Amino acid sequence: MSHHKATQLIHDNNRGKTYQSANLPLYYSSTYHQHELGGQPEYDYARSGNPNRQLLETKLAELENGKYGFAFNSGISAITSVLLTLKAGDHVILPDDVYGGTFRLTEEILTKFDIHFTTVNAENPENFENAITPQTKLLYVETPSNPLFKITDIRAVADIAKRHHLLLAVDNTFMTPIAQNPLDLGADIVIHSATKFLGGHSDVIAGAVVTNDDAFAKAIYLIQNGTGTGLSVYDCWTLTQHLKTLDVRFKQSTANAQQLIHYLEQHPAIGKIYYPGNSTVHLKQAQHGGAVFGFKLKNEALAQTFVDALEIPLVSVSLGGVETILSHPYSMSHAAIPQPIREARGITFGLFRLSVGLENPETLIADLDHALKEVYDESIIKHSEAQRSSG
Ligand SMILES: *Cc1c(COP(=O)(O)O)cnc(C)c1O
Repeated sequence: MSHHKATQLIHDNNRGKTYQSANLPLYYSSTYHQHELGGQPEYDYARSGNPNRQLLETKLAELENGKYGFAFNSGISAITSVLLTLKAGDHVILPDDVYGGTFRLTEEILTKFDIHFTTVNAENPENFENAITPQTKLLYVETPSNPLFKITDIRAVADIAKRHHLLLAVDNTFMTPIAQNPLDLGADIVIHSATKFLGGHSDVIAGAVVTNDDAFAKAIYLIQNGTGTGLSVYDCWTLTQHLKTLDVRFKQSTANAQQLIHYLEQHPAIGKIYYPGNSTVHLKQAQHGGAVFGFKLKNEALAQTFVDALEIPLVSVSLGGVETILSHPYSMSHAAIPQPIREARGITFGLFRLSVGLENPETLIADLDHALKEVYDESIIKHSEAQRSSG
């Protein structure tokens, strides 16, 4: 019987096993006794496989409607492992606003091994097709992108990949498997930073890959075992626990985010809001807009005043936690991009990203309201001062 994802996540299927505990115990063991020399034990060494990783990987596969799941020791390790299935001379096409760590990995590390990358504006699927060369092996998509929430039509890129016999990988971190399932839309590989919503408690660093492709599954297992990128036993256990509440956490965070957006849209201190839920392309491939959005202050110079006045959100990188997290891409995730390029790309000083958590939404709105008053009043004062001095 196939169950709803919320149900699948909760049961560990440990019934009938030792002690029938509700949770699969933590098998904190690096090695396993082998009584038959040359036999085929289920587990021999924990890097190669262990009961806790096995359970987690089964759940990850189920979540993304795939046959094979793989757990990695970070999101970037999952991405590295996907790309290490390629060989020297191969070519990959990826978005020009791909996650910063993915960009660094491709540009600064993998190019040294003679793997080639072309970046394109991923809002137009044709750009992928136009960049294909005889060496191209993989198309890579991340939607919605960050921090301006640009959307890529997954089905359209999947069609291009199929026509050219290429694999398509999708980084699905922002939407989670609850709201978007790239394999169902024609992708071959789904990637997650499980550090974000899947873990959801801002503790574990982890990554996931899911696929239906037998050959790719074999290739990535070789990388996971052969380069040691698999997730540790302890973190597998913790992530399995955190996943039990993924469905309810993501639903509630999304509902809270939508209330906050509704409030911010009316506020005179807010310049622009960036939310995947406002994109028709996005809503054709995902159930809703999710729990993360961007916004710009009208008076961008007052970004620090705004942050100083806020009491609740954690001001930090990352997203997807139970706590609301406010990020400032200009000084955090995108600080390494030279300033003129950053500004030209719309990553200005007044741009914030909010990952909405599980706090009471009215309390969050009251906090924002208080902080926005500071920048609104000040912006009126500055504005009138400027008028006076120019007049
Ligand atoms: C955080 C993130 C990653 C990297 O994941 P880590 O777990 O930090 O290694 C990759 N892609 C996206 C979209 C992310 O947000």
